[in-house]
Amino acid sequence: MFISRICLILALLALVSVPYRTFAQANSLEPKSPADPLRADPKISAALGQISPQRIQANIEKLVSFQTRLTLSAQDPDSIKAGHGIGAAREWIKSEFEGYSRACGGCLEVKTDSFTENPADRIPKPTVITNVYAVLNGIDPENAKRIVLVTGHYDSRNSDTLDVSGIAPGANDDGSGTAVSLECARVLSQLKFPATIIFLTVAGEEQGLNGSSHFAKMAKAEGWDIEAVLNNDIVGGDRGPQQNPGVVRVFSEGVPLAATDAEVRRIRGLGGENDSASRQIARYIAEVGRAYQTSVKPLLVFRLDRYLRGGDHSAFNEQGYAGVRFTEYREDYHHQHQNVRTENGIEYGDLPKFVNFDYVANVARVNAGTLASLASAPAPPAKVRLQTKELENDSTIAWGASPGAASYEVVWRDTASPEWEHAKSVGNVTHATLPLSKDNVIFAVRALDGAGHRSLAVVPQPER
Ligand SMILES: [Zn+2]
Repeated sequence: MFISRICLILALLALVSVPYRTFAQANSLEPKSPADPLRADPKISAALGQISPQRIQANIEKLVSFQTRLTLSAQDPDSIKAGHGIGAAREWIKSEFEGYSRACGGCLEVKTDSFTENPADRIPKPTVITNVYAVLNGIDPENAKRIVLVTGHYDSRNSDTLDVSGIAPGANDDGSGTAVSLECARVLSQLKFPATIIFLTVAGEEQGLNGSSHFAKMAKAEGWDIEAVLNNDIVGGDRGPQQNPGVVRVFSEGVPLAATDAEVRRIRGLGGENDSASRQIARYIAEVGRAYQTSVKPLLVFRLDRYLRGGDHSAFNEQGYAGVRFTEYREDYHHQHQNVRTENGIEYGDLPKFVNFDYVANVARVNAGTLASLASAPAPPAKVRLQTKELENDSTIAWGASPGAASYEVVWRDTASPEWEHAKSVGNVTHATLPLSKDNVIFAVRALDGAGHRSLAVVPQPER
């Protein structure tokens, strides 16, 4: 009786100690360092310092001077000559890109993507829509096919999406995003990068994402390797009293819009709802904000876009490209999609006087820092797999080598944490085993070059 009681106590003690041992094992990877932070590259810092609120102001005021940039507005030669309508805006954007290219010895390829959209809900008759873009080609043959892209829409609207001649200044929506693409092109074209950067401005956003949909489909049909899309739409930092000028929202899809049914099932089974490639871009942007100490801090919003609303990044997401949306912290709906007027003492309309040009410049810095960091980094590791052949508490991850990589990092976080919390440098290898259970954390791998530029993180797929 006594002995069996001792046995029972010992058995109970053993049971009680199991959780403790498990806890100790989970923490045995010491030191459990915080994620090694991205470090600022002095060349990129200097470029961010060149971003000019005055130039951004001048560009937004120029865009507003075309009176309307409604996609359905005038684009005939006489209107272009008179500086009125979307055709004039398009020609001016093209000439700006060409000017930046002259300043860098012809380093930018300035192009248009023009097509006729058939009649639809907000397009009463066949309409020519033109996207304007500049390409800064990568200089490393192994990385030049990789593309990072920044975009804004240069079309505008007022209260009526079909009003072809009424004033539609569109200073914030989306003169601000167009100005970000332009200013990123101006300062980054002074540098050279291994990978390619595209500075895009699209039309047709207000009629139904027509320009971005066409561009994304063209890119997919031509097999472009677009690694990241940064869409800036309403980044003017409206000067309303409740604005937070220290924050820009970064929206990213959770379950990818382009995921197949089988992929959705796998995401559900693995708890991967928070780890789309778009969300890895959002996390990367947050790191860039810290590394370059930008005055405007990225606020990650884990949602495709604002509640029940949409934008151009989703047109890229639909085609399977990873991309995010930047938008000011608090929108003022009196100042978007409104006829310019005063009613009951309230001023309506999307006018330059409501735009905070310093804020737009700071958002442009977050964008330019992200574009430059990604274009400097090696490709993200390919075919990242987490081995699951055996049931074991260690985790072994394998991946394919990235051209230009000098080493790799495994990063991980608790499943309930928004950002990567830990990083372990594993050297120039293509597999690593960590004494951590794959059940308890989310892993990813990223590639680094010799100077410490980091790729996007890639979450492994299970390998049976
Ligand atoms: Zn917009």
